Amino acid sequence: MTQTKFLLNETDLPKTWYNINADSPVPPTPVLHPQTQDPVTPDFLSVLFPMELILQEVSADRYIDIPEEVREIYKLWRPTPLIRARRLEKALGTPAHIYFKNEGVSPPGSHKPNTAVAQAFYNKIAGTGALTTETGAGQWGSALSMACNFFDLPLEVYMVNISYQQKPYRRVLMESYGAEVFASPTDRTQFGQSVLADDPESPGSLGIAISEAVEAAVTSGGKKKYSLGSVLNHVLMHQTVVGEEALKQMDMAGEYPDVVIGCVGGGSNYAGLAYPFLRENLLNDQNARFVAVEPTATPTLTRGPYAFDYGDTAKMAPIVKMFTLGHGFIPPPIHAGGLRYHGMAPSLCSLYDAGHIEAVALPQLATFEAAITFTRSEGIIPAPETAHAICAVIDEALDAKEKGEERVILFNFSGHGHFDLSAYQTYLNGELEDYEHPEEAIQAALQHLPQVNL
Ligand SMILES: *Cc1c(COP(=O)(O)O)cnc(C)c1O
Repeated sequence: MTQTKFLLNETDLPKTWYNINADSPVPPTPVLHPQTQDPVTPDFLSVLFPMELILQEVSADRYIDIPEEVREIYKLWRPTPLIRARRLEKALGTPAHIYFKNEGVSPPGSHKPNTAVAQAFYNKIAGTGALTTETGAGQWGSALSMACNFFDLPLEVYMVNISYQQKPYRRVLMESYGAEVFASPTDRTQFGQSVLADDPESPGSLGIAISEAVEAAVTSGGKKKYSLGSVLNHVLMHQTVVGEEALKQMDMAGEYPDVVIGCVGGGSNYAGLAYPFLRENLLNDQNARFVAVEPTATPTLTRGPYAFDYGDTAKMAPIVKMFTLGHGFIPPPIHAGGLRYHGMAPSLCSLYDAGHIEAVALPQLATFEAAITFTRSEGIIPAPETAHAICAVIDEALDAKEKGEERVILFNFSGHGHFDLSAYQTYLNGELEDYEHPEEAIQAALQHLPQVNL
């Protein structure tokens, strides 16, 4: 048997999304209003999101039907291939079997359209006039730009200033889909103006850009709504098409993963792959391990406290319980822009806290080295975010080699790196740096966490 690609038919495209909250052994933690600290009401959330997405956010149903209109668009790139990385296995000399789900085949190049298309659809049918959002590296912005274009919805993107400078081609892609893109902080919002007043050269952060996009929606008199590319329950749920397909494809390969790996920024691509497999652990006696991978520069799970914190820098977004580096966190300029968020999806945090998921933090240089090994064996250059998953996969495969184990490793190839070549150039020139998040910064951020009395 030398099969390399495991491909599904369009008829195998999942008809439902999976909701981990139906099966999670840890109850969901409360979501609190940023000012009153009372549990948020649908009224508060409805300023930001259409009702259908709010219902999904709080749903306890195990499965939610994927609308036909969304499945039709998914068919442009789904089902995505599952690839056995035989050439990488050989390069490492490992007895491990390495599989990856290639979400880089979507038109904008990552897993993010899986939720962007769903969110644009529910906003369109709810009569939303326009969407606002933030983007870091530009992957989310381009995914939502494509989706909004398909549903004829105007889109305003607040792009983290440093990425706007470093990744001009992502902006061109968003504009080609028809979106309006601004370097955040901007002078279009009160919050952006206040940040610029303190620091006219501010590199921006995901937290600041979220605050601006939220403010733009909240002050639009109901015309605009806001869209988030990760962290929220409904976003993670939309991504579960990845894991549901992968379950079928692993079955085609006649194997089952011993370990499921993915990089985590807000947690959505990893949850999308992992949660359907975690369901099999919880309900069907499977025994896979789960490993979430983050940068040492933003070590949310491995070094942050598990605490209530604001979802954004301006304290306009709800307070949720998560591992956090503090809402004021300004991340170092690592190239994995999608991994620079200060917090993490609450469901993933609670599962990690309860020991169902492990986490590792990896330094930037090692991830680029792993990415180059992958590129030279499998031919695909990964996004710097994805490189974190690959680095952990290689560590896992070398550990299996040392122990002589035929370990089956599955990971989410969350996106390609075609727009990240300047980062690769820096690496190849030997100019890439490692960043370690300083302990003082964690202690300082702790001082600013909201005091929540439950
Ligand atoms: C956005 C992004 C991530 C991180 O976001 P998650 O919500 O944690 O998945 C990872 N990989 C790629 C390619 C991305 O674009």
